[in-house]
Amino acid sequence: MSGMDLVIRARRAVRATGEQACAVGVRDGRIVAIEPYDADLVTTADVRLRDDEVLLPGLVDSHVHVNDPGRTEWEGFTTATKAAAAGGVTTIIDMPLNSIPPTCDVPALALKRKTAETQAYVDVGFWGGAIPDNVPELRPLDEAGVFGFKCFLLHSGVDEFPPLDQPELEDAMAEISGFDGLLIVHAEDAHRIDHAPPPNGSSYAAFLDSRPRAAENIAVAEVIQLARRSGCRVHILHVSSADVLQLITTARNDGVRITAETCPHYLTFAAEDIPDGATQYKCCPPIREAGNRELLWEGLRDGAIDLIVSDHSPSTIDLKRLDTGDFGTAWGGIASLQLGLSAVWTEARRRGFTLVDVARWMSTAPATQTRLTSKGRIDTGYDADFCVLAPDESFVVDANTLHHKNAITPYDGRTLDGIVRGTWLRGEPVDIDGGPRGHLLTRGERR
Ligand SMILES: [Zn+2]
Repeated sequence: MSGMDLVIRARRAVRATGEQACAVGVRDGRIVAIEPYDADLVTTADVRLRDDEVLLPGLVDSHVHVNDPGRTEWEGFTTATKAAAAGGVTTIIDMPLNSIPPTCDVPALALKRKTAETQAYVDVGFWGGAIPDNVPELRPLDEAGVFGFKCFLLHSGVDEFPPLDQPELEDAMAEISGFDGLLIVHAEDAHRIDHAPPPNGSSYAAFLDSRPRAAENIAVAEVIQLARRSGCRVHILHVSSADVLQLITTARNDGVRITAETCPHYLTFAAEDIPDGATQYKCCPPIREAGNRELLWEGLRDGAIDLIVSDHSPSTIDLKRLDTGDFGTAWGGIASLQLGLSAVWTEARRRGFTLVDVARWMSTAPATQTRLTSKGRIDTGYDADFCVLAPDESFVVDANTLHHKNAITPYDGRTLDGIVRGTWLRGEPVDIDGGPRGHLLTRGERR
């Protein structure tokens, strides 16, 4: 085999089949060889990881709100993609809402792409939005390369991204299934939440009561029913209520094309431990009880939940209303893009999981689900996107040192295991003090 641009030798590389010692050969940004650790390979750069480091496929975080353009004081592509790189994430897929305009037609997508183009430190793809009256925009957005369509079944938090009612949801599914697209759903039922007690000041318990599990359970059941009828591929975003896992498993066994994700915060924190007034923990659906959290881990173990993504949804600090601690008025969203891998690894290892599991949930499965055919594996033919992790090192989170724009996160002060020592994008280390090298991704494109 002729010369390579790079060889990375790792005592521990995480591959789909398990961990192995190997030498990974890279040419033109692609993995072209997996050889024994000491293989004699001709290369211009021969990198040996330290004995305490593990080579993982770069993470794929398919649930990130970058908010740029329009709410760039909340987050932007430069800060978000630097945070991603620092956390071992080499691909993000940007959510269609909280930016202005939301990504609900092709001109809005073009504006997003133009905004991201000069700022991306990692690869960036885009979701489109399904809102009332934009059914005619869905196919053109699909053809323009969005990875699928997000919808809400209740108020999204921003007025310019309204929810779908049941007939509108059916219309969207009919259209999307016509081109074998993917509908991703924020599944909480508006009616059930309208009938729950409202959040009451700084009480976390009252906030939790205002977003009951039943609201998620009802909404997921509705999505399943309509997916069964339409044949549409659907994905349940940020599963928080463990009650839905049985519904999802049963539907999948019946042939419904359904996948599900959860997020690091639902797997880390527990409602019982959240102090009143601590609105940095506010997200929707909410963080629930410890017993529920353990059932989510069981859902990962038995495959009911396919993947873990951040749902990084930051705002400015003032909108989190730490001054009043009012869960009713605070922005609902957790900032964690840089911390997802360490947060999940910290909790996963305690429960007997391995880095092979973590890489499957946070890299391979999100890549498969979004049909990113060149991401998510250390294997020949895949992009040479890597995360170098020191899994036995730990650190204390300091929100002020994170790269996302506003220095607030519920992980602040928490000790996490697993330090990201380096991130490689298409065969080159990501230098967050240098220039951006990320590409904009188009669904289905084989680059
Ligand atoms: Zn979200």
